[in-house]
Amino acid sequence: MRRWMSGVLVVVAAITAAAADKQVGTLESATEALGADHIRSIEFSGTGNWYQFGQEPNPNVPAPEFEVSSYTASIDYNTATSHIQRVTRQLVDPTRWRPVPQMAGGRGGEGAQEFVAGGIAWTLGATGGPSTGLPVTAISDAKNGEERTMEIWATPQGFLRAAAANHATSKPINGGGSEVTFMLGKHKVVGKINAQNQVFSVHYWIDNPILGDMLCEAGFTEYRNFGGVMFPGHIVRTQGGKMRLEIMVSEVKVNPPVAIPVPEGMREAMTAPVKVTVDRLADGVYWLRGFQWHSVAVDQGDHIVMIDAPLDEERSLAVIAKIKQTIPNKNITYLVNTHAHFDHAGGVRTYVDEGATIVTLPMNQAFFERAWRNPHTLNPDRLELSKKTPKFLPVTNGKLVLNDSKRPIEVHEQVGSAHSDSVVMVYLPVEKILVQVDAWNTEALSAPRIDSIGGEYVNPYMANLYDNIMRLNLDVRMLVPLHGPRTTTMTELRQALLME
Ligand SMILES: [Zn+2]
Repeated sequence: MRRWMSGVLVVVAAITAAAADKQVGTLESATEALGADHIRSIEFSGTGNWYQFGQEPNPNVPAPEFEVSSYTASIDYNTATSHIQRVTRQLVDPTRWRPVPQMAGGRGGEGAQEFVAGGIAWTLGATGGPSTGLPVTAISDAKNGEERTMEIWATPQGFLRAAAANHATSKPINGGGSEVTFMLGKHKVVGKINAQNQVFSVHYWIDNPILGDMLCEAGFTEYRNFGGVMFPGHIVRTQGGKMRLEIMVSEVKVNPPVAIPVPEGMREAMTAPVKVTVDRLADGVYWLRGFQWHSVAVDQGDHIVMIDAPLDEERSLAVIAKIKQTIPNKNITYLVNTHAHFDHAGGVRTYVDEGATIVTLPMNQAFFERAWRNPHTLNPDRLELSKKTPKFLPVTNGKLVLNDSKRPIEVHEQVGSAHSDSVVMVYLPVEKILVQVDAWNTEALSAPRIDSIGGEYVNPYMANLYDNIMRLNLDVRMLVPLHGPRTTTMTELRQALLME
């Protein structure tokens, strides 16, 4: 018995010695196992789900879900370049969308292509493209550049390469493996490697105008050998605590050519100053337009009321400067926030710093109060520096009036909208102007819409807008969109709804 036991001990000791020679779960062992030192570029494809972050029906629920029928990411690590192609179809929640038989199961079938090269981001595809067919640069490109570049380094091989190049530190974790941390510019990146030499999670923070320093996480599981390279079969990305992407990987190519020239004008567009054009809609009422994101200003007695603060602080500062030029010597006392979608609320904090009271529905107020407590250290905005306490004036019982003998402003809750559970429209009774958001972007003026399988349907957002105008018995002469190129009339709205 003793002889047998000592034999076992010898074998155990031999195995332990072999393991000590070649450690597992370290940056070096994972780099070797995943081939990160000789993979210059990678392309992975699959199917799954994509979520429209920042466009939640309300701040307390997940982002709208899209089915991804095709997803391909082509990444070149040497040049920090990536090209993501995605074909998506929105999974329609029948409780939110008016049931139209032709729409059964989904909406769209839209392709989008997202690029980043050397920090410069641009997007091609259905989501941004006016009829020009030219590459469309979103106004928030600088933000997209940061987000997409960080995603390159939040792939397994990308993470290992970035760790090796940026003086990473490691510490052991439970179960045998390590946690590897490094700084990539101002971004802290933390990844975890398991005892099988697989990178199973990477997290980092990027700036978001509303959420501040926003946690992004990538999870990698179900590793297998894809024609010679170990790669996860399942990838999940979250952002600000919400699902962003889930992909089941079906194919991986190693070292494919990924050459993506930056289209002409993109570099300049990224650094160009924010443009604001002013249209006078009526006496004392101004439309302050950007590329696709607008605000409205109303001159009320001794102060100014602004409607909507889209995108981010850069845009808000440009709009504020422009309106102070247009209506001199008056303070902006109120900012009406239509809803909490990120493209409409990213610039609200700047108005808080400006001293304005935020007029919004209680659900949005609760979200802002919660979200704005997060630190904004990655990109400190004015409110982060001034630490002013936000002031709110909630729209309760569906209506709030900002009184003025000459130019009163009515803020009405838009009820039953599939777009947002917590959204207002703004009516100016003297001018008979209705400012509406996301219900009718006049670019899509040509109705009826035809869906991907040839069915005809009326846009439910537009129908809901019309229903609300009727419900409130508003006498509207002019509809002013907070996206879209021009104002419209009620006759046009009825035509778009196939009523005339
Ligand atoms: Zn919206």
